[in-house]
Amino acid sequence: MLRMHDAVMSFLQEPEPPRGVPLSVLPGIRRVVAENPGVMTYHGTNTYLIDESDGVTVIDPGPDSAKHVQDVLVAVGERPIRRLVLTHTHGDHCGAVPALSAATGAPVYGFRDCVHPRIKPDFPLDDGAHVAGLTALYTPGHAADHLCYEYYAESGQKILFSGDHVMSWSSSIVSPPDGDMLAYYRSLEKLLARDDDIYLSGHGPLLTEPRILVADMLAHRQYRERTILAELQQQDWAVAPLAAKLYHKADLFLKGAAQRNVLAHILKLKAEGIVEEHEPDTEPHPDTVALMRPLNGVKTESGGDLSHFYTDSMRRFGLRKAA
Ligand SMILES: [Zn+2]
Repeated sequence: MLRMHDAVMSFLQEPEPPRGVPLSVLPGIRRVVAENPGVMTYHGTNTYLIDESDGVTVIDPGPDSAKHVQDVLVAVGERPIRRLVLTHTHGDHCGAVPALSAATGAPVYGFRDCVHPRIKPDFPLDDGAHVAGLTALYTPGHAADHLCYEYYAESGQKILFSGDHVMSWSSSIVSPPDGDMLAYYRSLEKLLARDDDIYLSGHGPLLTEPRILVADMLAHRQYRERTILAELQQQDWAVAPLAAKLYHKADLFLKGAAQRNVLAHILKLKAEGIVEEHEPDTEPHPDTVALMRPLNGVKTESGGDLSHFYTDSMRRFGLRKAA
């Protein structure tokens, strides 16, 4: 049976994990949870440490935080860090790369078309590439340069480091243009066709029977798409008022995230030839006005400014008229 609402999605919670110490995840795999909790990051970014015969592989060094880098170095101890592997280049995953590279000399591995202006992987990876015991799986959608990594644990279980493509605690934001809803659907379908036993995600606890959640996520997005389409069948809509109608979020940043997700859904429908774009609204929605105040001057993770959030919120769309 398909489940249709956030309320019944099988997301996991966990108590706030201890800070500054490595937590055992599975034999040979530990995680250090960074101190960057938030509405998008849960308790913080998971930095995974995998014990290999030649040393340690680090998956997602984490945010730009001297304390987190120190915690990772202390957790690894005497063993050398051999490689820094990125699921994607959002700042909460790759901000620590410069400091950790400098401290260890370890090379950086990430997707070949890296989106980040200042991170250049020493070893650019393509879909199917092998790094130590990991196999890269190209999964764009949340981020254009997103890779998941397959790994066989000592126990024989098939693990997928799922980054922020599939997180155990929440759905992912898909924010254009780095985020792409059509790609996100395809990347979820790609995971549904696999037989992984466990996901280790960028935020939140270990996830067993992961395909149940992936199927829920896909069904939930399809439900969202149908509700957006139903609204557009009634009238034209700008992004911000439609997001306010469909998502009932109290938190200001979650309202902003809802706008990004609505835009991503509509751009998918536009790419499919179902929806067309009209002249934008001339006045911003009150949610957008409130949101832009704290965002003023804030840079995105890739260094751009956020003024396109403002203009995107006023973009208007309607059903494409038959030619
Ligand atoms: Zn993240």
